[in-house]
Amino acid sequence: MTAATLHDVLQSAMRGHYAVAGLVVLGWEDAEAYVAAAGDLHMPVILQAGPGCRKHTPVTILGRMFRHLADHAKVPVVCHIDHARTYDECAEAVDHGFTSLMIDGSSLPLDDNIMLTQKVVALARRHGVSVEGEVGAVGYDGRGGSTMTSPDEAQRFERETGIDALAISVGNVHLQTTHAAVIDRALLARIESVTAVPLVLHGGSGIQPEERRRLARESRVKKFNIGTELRQEFGRSLRDYLALHPESFDRLELLQATRDPMRRLAQDVIRNLGP
Ligand SMILES: [Zn+2]
Repeated sequence: MTAATLHDVLQSAMRGHYAVAGLVVLGWEDAEAYVAAAGDLHMPVILQAGPGCRKHTPVTILGRMFRHLADHAKVPVVCHIDHARTYDECAEAVDHGFTSLMIDGSSLPLDDNIMLTQKVVALARRHGVSVEGEVGAVGYDGRGGSTMTSPDEAQRFERETGIDALAISVGNVHLQTTHAAVIDRALLARIESVTAVPLVLHGGSGIQPEERRRLARESRVKKFNIGTELRQEFGRSLRDYLALHPESFDRLELLQATRDPMRRLAQDVIRNLGP
């Protein structure tokens, strides 16, 4: 297999009435575990490098790493940049092998968001990669900042930008450590009725797994971003291992202890959204 675009995997998901997991990557170990989990289940997966990951590791390395994993995978692997805020970040990501760009203009006035997203879509079309945009704003747990997506704005944004996928705010919140999100199904239905592209929910960890499953099958939400619950599992498995092996100090040994638990949880997340 080789790297897939977001467009390809989400259009297949639309036809098959399932959704694809966008899994937050922070390093080699978790990325490798996610691709292994997807391979176990014969399902596509979206590897996501967000702002924290890019601050820690240069995009040049992340691009090579994601493409290496995609090249050796048995399933489609999307190499995705999460929450790029500028055109230059997107251009750099394309140069280093990413096949999918999220341009987040959600903090801008709608006209400016549309203009920025149009520029990124033009860049993406020249290079055969995909674009996810955002209308409304998905806030952060405990910090607020959410603005529910207006169906009218979503319709205009989709029509004027030509994005491949649209991130919306319908009660989903980033960084929730419990399944506390309350999804406004009526608002989601109104957005679905005036748009046509696959929809994306950031803050997937905050949504009950049963509800994710229902949405994956019954709605046009075709991508769920999942980070927090995977990071919680990383911390839990590392703490468990250290409690049993208090003398351990080797980085590879410690990280290896998290690998199978991360793979198992990624399997659960991917399977739950599957057909
Ligand atoms: Zn997000």
